[in-house]
Amino acid sequence: MEQLVALPVFGDAFLLRRSGRVILVDGGKSSVLLARELARYGVSHLDIVVCTHADYDHAGGLVDLLDRSAITVGEFWLPGAWAESLPALLTAPVEVVDDLILTLDREKNTRPLGADSEEFEEHMHSYVSRLRNDYRNAGPPADRDDHNEPFKSTREQGATEQWNVELPLDEDAEERAVRAFRSGRSRIRYRVDKRKVSKTVATFWLGLIDTAERIRRIAVQAAHHGVSVRWFDFGEFAKTNRAGGGDAGLLIPLNAVELVNPPPPPIGLSFLVRLTPVNEECLVFLSPNIDKFGWECSIVFTGDSPLGSGKNYSVSWLRWPKDASRLVIATAPHHGSESNFSAYGHLDMEVEMLVWVRSGGTDKHPGSIYRMLHPSTRICTYCPHARKQRQAAEIHFSSFPRWPLLRTNGHICNC
Ligand SMILES: [Zn+2]
Ligand SMILES: [Zn+2]
Repeated sequence: MEQLVALPVFGDAFLLRRSGRVILVDGGKSSVLLARELARYGVSHLDIVVCTHADYDHAGGLVDLLDRSAITVGEFWLPGAWAESLPALLTAPVEVVDDLILTLDREKNTRPLGADSEEFEEHMHSYVSRLRNDYRNAGPPADRDDHNEPFKSTREQGATEQWNVELPLDEDAEERAVRAFRSGRSRIRYRVDKRKVSKTVATFWLGLIDTAERIRRIAVQAAHHGVSVRWFDFGEFAKTNRAGGGDAGLLIPLNAVELVNPPPPPIGLSFLVRLTPVNEECLVFLSPNIDKFGWECSIVFTGDSPLGSGKNYSVSWLRWPKDASRLVIATAPHHGSESNFSAYGHLDMEVEMLVWVRSGGTDKHPGSIYRMLHPSTRICTYCPHARKQRQAAEIHFSSFPRWPLLRTNGHICNC
């Protein structure tokens, strides 16, 4: 009997026990809550910890999990896009912050300042997503090879291709980084006080500083605890629509390519563009079951992904691996948010949905499309509309006797 648990933390954190391995996908907002829940499930070692993207409600709990608990981790699987910013974040956080403030001063007059924060965020996401796409389509800039950033990687020889974060850091580096981010925050607040920047815009830029700090701290933590990092890049996937890498039969990416070498630094892309988490680029992973009858379930971790691209994400990029079981347990994309409604259709075209498991989000979640899914196929850690208490949503599954046997434990959703 194998087990998937949506942990009742704030945000998303999914624990998967399968084939004798323990996997965590995302860590919710707080490492304190996460460590407590992992202890409750008897977890002292995680073979793989995946972070789907840098948003607070997915990455926050991973920032200091290893520093705060006795839990050990085998590998971190992180977004390749982070590796673009890491060299600078590790060695020159002051420059990252300066660059963010520069774009704030430059962009503040060209953005719709009256919009509320949600509209503004959406506006910025599509703006950034367009810039990132343009950059990818334009191919590598000619001067890329001449650009040497002080970032070294050591690729380990072995069954898996991986390279470790090396810290070219002296003793004071941590303190300097903390000071740099703190100064960035106060420079943004100063602009609000002087009415040069609206609160909405400031909130977005403060979020970017937080994101930068989260990415840096997760990488530093991995290095301090000697945890290998494997990078999964959406950008490489977007070029060809072919995913690759991961551990066959256990966990594979559906919208990313595992990087063998560190990506070249994206010349000319501001840190605004590098650090804005775009839902479209959120990593999606599949724990496939490949038994010869195909009766056993596959698990899809959708993160905040819409599973497609283009206008309203209506073009599905989802290609189901040939030999993976199409009976699927999936995490509700983007906490059941309406903004990712296309994901339900894209999954439905490829597989037979058994159960949706939903966690995280705000009191506004989930949206109407999620609520229209058959109630018996949804379980939640809590149902905001029904004011249910947060509790773990557990699914136990096996293929005996030749039909997926699911035992669920959690709120049958009445969102
Ligand atoms: Zn989220
Ligand atoms: Zn619900």
